[in-house]
Parts: sequence; C-alpha cells; structure tokens
Amino acid sequence: MKEMSLSMAIQHFTHIHPLTKVDGQGGFICNGCNTYGFGTTYRCVTCDYDLHDHCATCPPTLLSFMHPQHELQRVFRGPDQRQLKEHRCDICDESVEGLYYHCEPCDFDVHPLCTQLPQQVRHVPHPDHQLELSHSGASNTCEVCRGAIRSWRYKCGLCRLSVHMECVKSSASTGAATQQRYIALQPQSHHSQYNQPHYTQLHHSQYN
Ligand SMILES: [Zn+2]
Ligand SMILES: [Zn+2]
Ligand SMILES: [Zn+2]
Ligand SMILES: [Zn+2]
Ligand SMILES: [Zn+2]
Ligand SMILES: [Zn+2]
Repeated sequence: MKEMSLSMAIQHFTHIHPLTKVDGQGGFICNGCNTYGFGTTYRCVTCDYDLHDHCATCPPTLLSFMHPQHELQRVFRGPDQRQLKEHRCDICDESVEGLYYHCEPCDFDVHPLCTQLPQQVRHVPHPDHQLELSHSGASNTCEVCRGAIRSWRYKCGLCRLSVHMECVKSSASTGAATQQRYIALQPQSHHSQYNQPHYTQLHHSQYN
C-alpha cells in the first residue's frame, strides 16, 4: 500500500473513523453506494471500509438534468436500516442501497455515480451527432452490442439509434468516476477474482 498523507484524510458522515485517500487500491465494493469501484478510494484500513472518490465528496443536495423537476436529496441507510422494498436506480435500473440520491415526491432514486453521467457524449462510431442521455426512445437495441436496452440510454434522435450507457466508451467527456466503473466491468465479465457485483450479473446476457 502507498504511503498515506494525513492531509488527504477526511471525516465522512457514513463512518466513525477518518478516511484516507488511497490511489491504486484495485477492486473494491464501495461501503457507501454498494457498487464496484476500482483505483482511488477513501479508506479506513482498520475496518476495511472503502468509499468511491465521488461518494466521499458528493454534495447533500443536487440539481440534475436527469430529474429537473426537483432538487435531489442525498440519503444514507446503513446496513441496520435496510428497507423492505427494494429501490432501484431510475437511470441504470440496478438496486440502490446505502448512499444514493432520492426525490421524495416522485420516488426517484439514483446512484451517486450515475449522477456523474454526462448529458451528451461524442460516440466515435457515430461522429455526426452527439448522443443524449435519455429515458426512452429511438430504439431498444444497442447499436454497439446488439443487446436489449431496459434503462436509460444514449440516443441519437435524428438517426433513431441507441447505445447502452456502458457501451459508450469513447467519450473523453465522460466523468472519471463513471468511466472507472464501466471500465471495471470488462475484467469482471471474464470472471476475475473480484466479487461479482450485482451490476454485472444483471447485465450478463449482453455478453452472451
Ligand atoms: Zn460509492
Ligand atoms: Zn473505521
Ligand atoms: Zn444507477
Ligand atoms: Zn421529483
Ligand atoms: Zn450495448
Ligand atoms: Zn445521429
């Protein structure tokens, strides 16, 4: 492990001990949002507690183009406060647990990392138009992997084509945290030593 610098330690409301920023950690499951992470983590070594860079620093409230009607509230439910009803991310359709953003009147939920997805991306195989992150529309078959699309997607409305969020890899404007997560999907789909998160399992049919 790399030498730690105390100046990089933070006190986060989800954990009793200070967390220290560590680069090059390898794979981990974030104890905030309970999704896979790779590389940079805010870590408590004593407890083997990890937070994504973004989960350690994301704000208590957020205005997002994904849900322009209302400000989203950051919520955190610890393992002792699990809900009976499973909540799913409105963007990627995976379950949200622990740390996430919520809109109470609309029952809208989103992973912290999913809020980092850019509204528009350049997709190299489709250079003429920007693709826009959309709730529905265009086509339900991914232009890249030909798999079915069941959640939000990047679409070109003009050309009526859609691409999975994780199949858009070519954009330099994609947020680093999000890119990290999607790049991390690659070794997992080929049976790495890491614990397979929920995320990959549900999308497994795309790779068959
Ligand atoms: Zn996280
Ligand atoms: Zn600790
Ligand atoms: Zn999500
Ligand atoms: Zn709302
Ligand atoms: Zn795809
Ligand atoms: Zn187009």
